[in-house]
Amino acid sequence: MNDLSSVPSVSPETEPRQRKPEWIRVKAPTSKGYGETRQLMRDLKLNTVCEEAACPNIGECWTKKHATVMILGDTCTRACAFCNVKTGMPGRVDADEPAHVAEAAAKLGLEHIVITSVDRDDLPDGGASQFVKVIEELRRNTPQTTIEILTPDFRGKMRRAVEAIVQARPDVYNHNLETVPRLYPTIRPGARYYASLRLLEEVKSHDPSIFTKSGIMLGLGEQRLEVHQVMDDMRCADIDFLTMGQYLRPTPKHTDVIEFVTPQAFAAYGAIARAKGFLQVASSPLTRSSYHAGKDFAEMRAAREAQLARAGEIAGRR
Ligand code: SF4
Repeated sequence: MNDLSSVPSVSPETEPRQRKPEWIRVKAPTSKGYGETRQLMRDLKLNTVCEEAACPNIGECWTKKHATVMILGDTCTRACAFCNVKTGMPGRVDADEPAHVAEAAAKLGLEHIVITSVDRDDLPDGGASQFVKVIEELRRNTPQTTIEILTPDFRGKMRRAVEAIVQARPDVYNHNLETVPRLYPTIRPGARYYASLRLLEEVKSHDPSIFTKSGIMLGLGEQRLEVHQVMDDMRCADIDFLTMGQYLRPTPKHTDVIEFVTPQAFAAYGAIARAKGFLQVASSPLTRSSYHAGKDFAEMRAAREAQLARAGEIAGRR
């Protein structure tokens, strides 16, 4: 059922706190592949958002040797209400990190890699040059690997940071809006909704061939029409790929789950997003920015090629 009548409207005042529903429960990771991925990350001294964010998909992803590397340390200069990464004054940037990321990509045999980072408001370039070095190192060592980056908003340094990263030519540039604008003051207090949208617009204005991607979490108290407005804003910024997943509270110190959105409601949101023209949409309770990112990237690339071929045919008939 893909119509919006299945999408519940959220009433934070009346919604009781719930146990995790059965569609959220995942098995504890125990596989051999999981252990090998974990060991490799330890050996190369790499942080992953999979562990730092306590991602529920870690068993599945690491078994398949998919991990999302988190560069620039394990300490963030922001304190978002939903995020499990520790806040504080980060340490020095590790000059060996780009080489270690490339080594991990080679050893894991990755066709597609996702690189993210903590916020580094303490650095003059917000950490942009480390993203550039990682992309360059990957291109040198594993040229067949496609590269997806998930960056912070580079508050106050956005234009130069984006320009530098776009010149390094990642295949996908992801920056998450995380939630609807009304909830920013409580959920993402250090960020500005329109600044994040502008960042993604800026990527496209420099290089329209780079795919742009953004995501939001559901279950934080957002209303259905607010989610639709975010989709419209993203389409206005020419964002190609939308991800939507359930917010899960990593610890009791973090903001409450207001609602567990049903799989049917996620499917309905996904249908609306596709109708609004996104090239690719991932919408399910366990969707995360980097969940199935390689498969989704391949589908998105095929969708763009099909779109261009259709446009060529139509132009040829004129
Ligand atoms: S969904 Fe992303 S963050 Fe979660 S385990 Fe998989 S790769 Fe890591």
